[in-house]
Amino acid sequence: MQFVLGLLAIAVMLWLAVTFWYIAVAILAIWITVRVVRHVRMKRYFAGEVFQTHLKELSSVVTEHNEIAAYAAEIRAGGQFGLGTSGTGSQSDLAIFENTSRHGYRRDRNVAHYQAVNVHNCSLQVVRNASADPLKYLIKYFRVEATDEGLTQVEKLGETMSRLGNAVDNLKTREADITGEFNPPKFILKHYSKQFTERVGVQLSPITVPHPEYVFEYVSAGGNSSQRTTVKLDTRTIDRLIEELSGRIRRRRSAAGQRALMTARFREEIKRRDAYTCQYCAVSLDDEPHLLLEVDHIVPVSRGGMSTEENLQTLCWRCNRTKSNKMVGA
Ligand SMILES: [Zn+2]
Repeated sequence: MQFVLGLLAIAVMLWLAVTFWYIAVAILAIWITVRVVRHVRMKRYFAGEVFQTHLKELSSVVTEHNEIAAYAAEIRAGGQFGLGTSGTGSQSDLAIFENTSRHGYRRDRNVAHYQAVNVHNCSLQVVRNASADPLKYLIKYFRVEATDEGLTQVEKLGETMSRLGNAVDNLKTREADITGEFNPPKFILKHYSKQFTERVGVQLSPITVPHPEYVFEYVSAGGNSSQRTTVKLDTRTIDRLIEELSGRIRRRRSAAGQRALMTARFREEIKRRDAYTCQYCAVSLDDEPHLLLEVDHIVPVSRGGMSTEENLQTLCWRCNRTKSNKMVGA
């Protein structure tokens, strides 16, 4: 009886396997067909008249996009994205740290980051105070100087970051616009977005704005616990830092109080004053909705130019790029 049952079970399993095999082949065949059909449709779309016409019409738009992508890379390569450094561990490169404990101690779970200039190793109290009063502690422990030079350096950092941020945002809206103009079928964007940007000729810029982070860290002696406070240097933090430094300088003497502060807010004011129009070539945001505008020191800071309203002007990115290239050459 058992033998018969066993045979029956094997027969059922065989029957299932055979049936399943057919289903598997059917699924595979459908899967391949779907992909082949999709591939053919993709080829036909890219070779088609609609796509080719758009490609010709938008070639100058694409070229400009790629030029701005190159410009963003220039800003990124030429910019400095950091401020002061922490004093802790400034000589740590001279020493070698090893965990030599035996018996499987896993005490290296929390190890202080002495080698990182953006990390300040400190007491638990300082970590907690820094979270309550980040600017004060940033200035103190990362040695950001409340002097005219220190202030200028922070303003320059804010300017580079906002220029890069604006360029990156500008690229994104241009990309969205170009895609919108082509208005490709959904399956193209879903399955062939890489091929799409390649065929259109848009060079996607991998650049993002680096926002340095400054960390206050406490690591207990045994390495069992650690706590940290992180201050991220974004536009908001930088603007507040500029105001804080200026306030300190003004309290000491009144010179820094005389000039405007190069905050993101102030740059926007200058652009508004100039009616979002380039003061060299007169192109405006009305003419070109995607125009990338920047605020320029007429006499550069490096040549003693001040951040006063009279010394600031709105330029389009092309004119600003040409001007700064001439300055470097001069
Ligand atoms: Zn211009």
